[in-house]
Amino acid sequence: GHLPEDTTVGELVQAAYDEHRHVTDGAVATYISQLAAADPTGCAASVVSVTGRAFEVGDAAVRFSIQSVSKPFVLALVVEALGPDRARNLLGANATGLAFNSVMAVELHDHRTMNPMVNAGAIAATSLAPEVAARRPARGAADPADSPDRAWDVVLGGLSAFAGRTLEVDDEVYACESASNLRNRSIAHLLHSYGRLHCDPDVATDLYTRQCSVSVDVHDLAVMAATLADGGVNPLTGARVVSDRTCAHVLAVMATAGLYELSGDWLWEVGLPGKSGVSGAVVTVAPGKGGLAVWSPLLDDAGNSVRGQLITRSLSRALGLNVFASA
Ligand code: GLN
Repeated sequence: GHLPEDTTVGELVQAAYDEHRHVTDGAVATYISQLAAADPTGCAASVVSVTGRAFEVGDAAVRFSIQSVSKPFVLALVVEALGPDRARNLLGANATGLAFNSVMAVELHDHRTMNPMVNAGAIAATSLAPEVAARRPARGAADPADSPDRAWDVVLGGLSAFAGRTLEVDDEVYACESASNLRNRSIAHLLHSYGRLHCDPDVATDLYTRQCSVSVDVHDLAVMAATLADGGVNPLTGARVVSDRTCAHVLAVMATAGLYELSGDWLWEVGLPGKSGVSGAVVTVAPGKGGLAVWSPLLDDAGNSVRGQLITRSLSRALGLNVFASA
C-alpha cells in the first residue's frame, strides 16, 4: 500500500506537529557550541512520499547541521561501492547498548566497531570514502585517487544526490566542531591502533566532522529518507543513488541502532527504521511509502530529539506505517 491521499497526509502531519510542538522536555546539545545556540522552541516536520509529494509544517525554512543523520547515507555509499558483505565485515551490524560516542564500545567488543550508526563505526565507514573515491575514474594527474578532496567529493556528492540538491557545509559548525572533537579523534586513533580504520585517522576524523556539519532543512532530510524508502531512487529527481539491496541493509542497521541505546524503545513505539542526530533531527523510513523528518533541538539523555520522537510516533500510528503491524 501507499500513503493515504494528499489532503489526509497534510492534515495528519499538521495534527502530529500541533500535538507535540509545545512539549518542553529535554535539553539542547551543548558539547558543540554552535548547537547550544539553537532555538529550543524550533520545530518542523516533513513527509515526502515515494511518489514525490512533499508536506511541510512548522519552521521548515530553518537550516541546521545534519550531524549523525548523515551516518546511514554515508554507509549506503560505502555498502554500494564495497558490497554488503565486506561492509558488514568491516563495520558491523549489531547494537552497542552504549552511548553514541562510546569508547568503551570498542574496548568491550573485540576491539572493533559494532555498527556504523554510532561514532566509532561511522568514523570507520567514512574512513572508507577514500577507497570508494579510488574506485571512480580519475579526473586527471592533478587529482590523485587517494586525495582527501576526492573522498570528500564522494561524501558530499553522495549526500547531495540523496537530497536532490547541492548541499554545503556550515563553516561555523565545522570550525567549532573541529576545535572540540578530541573524543572523535581519540576514537579514530584507537580504531587505527587496532587496524580497524581504513585511512589516516586525522583525515578520517576531518571527513567525518565535515560530513556532520553539512547544512540541511527538514525537507532535505525527508527527501533523503524517501530515497531510502524508494529503494535508492530519489523520488524528486528520479536519479538512482544506490541499489535497493543496499537500502535494505542500511534500513536494517538503522532499525538496530539508529537511536543509539534507545533503539529498541523506538522500534517498539514507531516500528520503523530511524536515525537521530544531536542537532535535533530525526529521519524515519517507511519502506515503499516515504520518508519522514522532524527537527526540534530539545534532546533526551541519549541525544535523540524529544519532539522528533513524539511527532514521528504519532505519524507512524496515524498513517499506519509500523512495519511489524499486520494490518
Ligand atoms: N558530530 C557529532 C559527534 O560526532 C554527531 C553526533 C550525533 O549527532 N549524535 O559527536
